Amino acid sequence: MSLWESALKQLEKANEFLKIDPQVLEKLKKPEHIYEATLEVRMDTGENRAFKAYRVQHNGARGPYKGGIRFHPQVNLDEVKALALWMSIKNSVVGVPYGGAKGGVEVDPKQLSEWELQRLSRSYIQAMHSFIGPWADIPAPDVNTNPKIMAWMVDEYEKIVGHKAPGVITGKPLEIGGSKGRVQATGRGGLYILNQAIEKILPGKQKSKLTIAIQGFGNVGANFAILSFKDGYKPVALSDSKGGIYDPKDLDPEKIYECKEAGGTVASCYLRRSVVEVPKELKFLKTGEVSNEELLEIEADVLVPAALENIITAKNAEKIKAKVILELANGPVTSEADRILSERGIKVIPDVLANAGGVSVSYLEWVQNNMGYYWEEAEVNEKLKKLIVDAFRNVWDISEKYKTDLRTAAYILSLERIVEAMRSRGTAA
Ligand code: NAD
Repeated sequence: MSLWESALKQLEKANEFLKIDPQVLEKLKKPEHIYEATLEVRMDTGENRAFKAYRVQHNGARGPYKGGIRFHPQVNLDEVKALALWMSIKNSVVGVPYGGAKGGVEVDPKQLSEWELQRLSRSYIQAMHSFIGPWADIPAPDVNTNPKIMAWMVDEYEKIVGHKAPGVITGKPLEIGGSKGRVQATGRGGLYILNQAIEKILPGKQKSKLTIAIQGFGNVGANFAILSFKDGYKPVALSDSKGGIYDPKDLDPEKIYECKEAGGTVASCYLRRSVVEVPKELKFLKTGEVSNEELLEIEADVLVPAALENIITAKNAEKIKAKVILELANGPVTSEADRILSERGIKVIPDVLANAGGVSVSYLEWVQNNMGYYWEEAEVNEKLKKLIVDAFRNVWDISEKYKTDLRTAAYILSLERIVEAMRSRGTAA
């Protein structure tokens, strides 16, 4: 099943409870706009290379479209459509006044020089500038894009339109209108959600006894690992695309982060410690190294996929030992795996709720840009907490009311709001 088919299936499942008017449901099953372009980018060698680029706007009933831009070799239209639909759902779950969109470029950015990357980022905006804008569609970072890339993109947009427009893109560096707290926001939001979920699912369990395995050590995974560790939880396994580590005794994500920033990988950073320091009772390889597949099946209370989609499937769902899965990545659990996990009593906190901290602070960044007044980090974090905790409570209550899983509950809450907005506009029956 493709990612888009899987997104539609989730929509259908929620509709079993909602019974949305069939014509309205049909509208929700199609993105409102799909833009495709071929970006011609000059390489440092003087040659031009072509890259496929996309921007998909799924539903704009609740406000300007909003969603990140991904640079990845596997980016394709099917994936961008699914990610755009999930953004419509997510923005509505946390109650921020946006529709959903997503963008992507089919590229391996690690193969590009810094100048090539900058030319590619500017070229994306040259191709898409007519479709985005602070009151039209507001991009943000996603996989392999970061504040530096957002800064080039804002700069290019402002050159084209001829005036400053910081609200056109969120996730910017602080010095050009970014928000304090945005870099950590998705990880921090995930932590707030985990705190709420543990109170409901494993009440009374001490944080220091709650072990966590985290796949992916980028913006989302690394910040979540560090923040959860500082909050008293016990991360025991970490990984990046090169492999992972498992250490049930004394894993300090901040140290791994510092080493990774200096150019290492998660596994090499860990092994940089002297061999005698590595605990002997590690369950996998003696060195504590684990593969990304092994990490998913590790003995840990909470499993946090924070890399890419479709990594928990019908093949490995039976082997997952965690009691709670916190989906910080978008779409990490396939529909079949979702069913298996649910039958096994494993609670999945869905992406559209668990990773909504990122878009929540993107919203706060956009508000600050629009009013030209900037908050301190503590105020941003407080506002984030309110948005995300309210969303969790609403989703939890709906899951109890309809006796359904949290993903379906999140879709119910979200779709009700989207359909209501469509009704107000007169675009739904
Ligand atoms: P990133 O590019 O900063 O980091 C991705 C991480 O995943 C890296 O550590 C990379 O090494 C690792 N990785 C890649 N392939 C892997 C594999 N096969 N196995 C294990 N690890 C692998 O990206 P990010 O911004 O942290 O995004 C991660 C996920 O979170 C994505 O699904 C993204 O859509 C989602 N997300 C991001 C944000 C945000 O604010 N950045 C918000 C919401 C959701």
